[in-house]
Amino acid sequence: MHQPPSTPRQTYWNRVLLNSFWLVLLVYLASQLFVSFSMWGQLPQFSGSRYYIFHMLIPDSLIGLLILTLELIHRRLPQHAEFAIIVASHIYAFLMIGNLSMDYHAKPLIMLLPLLVSMIYVNKAYLMASSSVCLLYLILLFINTSPYDYTLRIENIIIAVIFAGTASAGFGIIARGRDLMQSLASSVKAEQDLRIQNIIMDRLSKIDPLTDLYNHKTFHEYLGWLIEHQQGNPFPMQLAVLDIDNFKQVNDRYGHWVGDVVLKQVAAILLKHIGTDDFAARYGGEEFVVILTAKPYEESREIMQRVLEGIAQAPVAEMDGHSVTVSIGMHNYDGADSKSSTFQKADDALYEAKKTGKNKIVTL
Ligand code: GH3
Ligand code: MG
Ligand code: MG
Repeated sequence: MHQPPSTPRQTYWNRVLLNSFWLVLLVYLASQLFVSFSMWGQLPQFSGSRYYIFHMLIPDSLIGLLILTLELIHRRLPQHAEFAIIVASHIYAFLMIGNLSMDYHAKPLIMLLPLLVSMIYVNKAYLMASSSVCLLYLILLFINTSPYDYTLRIENIIIAVIFAGTASAGFGIIARGRDLMQSLASSVKAEQDLRIQNIIMDRLSKIDPLTDLYNHKTFHEYLGWLIEHQQGNPFPMQLAVLDIDNFKQVNDRYGHWVGDVVLKQVAAILLKHIGTDDFAARYGGEEFVVILTAKPYEESREIMQRVLEGIAQAPVAEMDGHSVTVSIGMHNYDGADSKSSTFQKADDALYEAKKTGKNKIVTL
């Protein structure tokens, strides 16, 4: 049967149970030693080595071996550890019960151990299985009790009541646990939805919906941030402002929807040519801005030249295969510029490009 891989929480609880198995073995061993030493010389069975071999060494080693096997499964086959721990908790209890003398009348209560282990896993099927094993054990207990031993029969009835009470409390705890897990899952889902909504809202507030480029607001925030960082750690930076030439005519001749197609196409060409260090935004209308960083002016100028040529050479199907051109104004940041003067210089350069014939780059 294919088992899903165990989650970190399951692994954690398997570890907790294995630790408690070791602890129970230690306590069991300590109590055995305490009883045998305190009875030393008083009862003959505690005085010979036979007792230590058959009632301590062998059964305790078997329990130790059982826990070591679980440790191995926990490390090598973690997806089977939970099931192995449940099965082993029954064997563990039987080994302890089988080893204890009939004089310990409370020893059947050790069968509570697998019941409690099933509860820890909040698993109804495990608890049903453990309860069935306990029931079988109780039946054997009643069969093996002499019908004339009334005290023992009453003790067995009390033990049966304790088992039944623990099992029904266990089912109640599991139902409550499931309820809590469900409400936790739904609040986690609600939180996830909220996070996704926040991401979408955040994106909507930063991105221009038509071109998918950053918007005006984000451009100003980013430029301000870069200039602030220039103070402590100067790096090469250029600003380019692009404006589509005669765009009004495109709208007038082909309609606004074709104008929108052109805006998207220009944005796509822009993105295709700029690098990962660069930032492109739609400034507004048919104007775009590009911040180029981490390269000398000449390299940035070449990139913008490729953008200019790329746009001019890209036919627009909706414009009967004609293309548009852009004018570009550039400014190479000199370390002393403020945010507004940086933008102003690039804008002045754009004005100059428009005035002197369009479809060109001017740098100021
Ligand atoms: P120039 O070469 O001097 O830049 O001339 P131009 O026609 O490109 O400039 P102008 O400022 O006269 O016109 C810009 C036009 O851009 C006017 C406006 O209708 C249009 N426009 C602005 N935003 C949008 C948009 O989102 N979609 C469309 N289709 N048109 C837009
Ligand atoms: Mg314009
Ligand atoms: Mg224009």
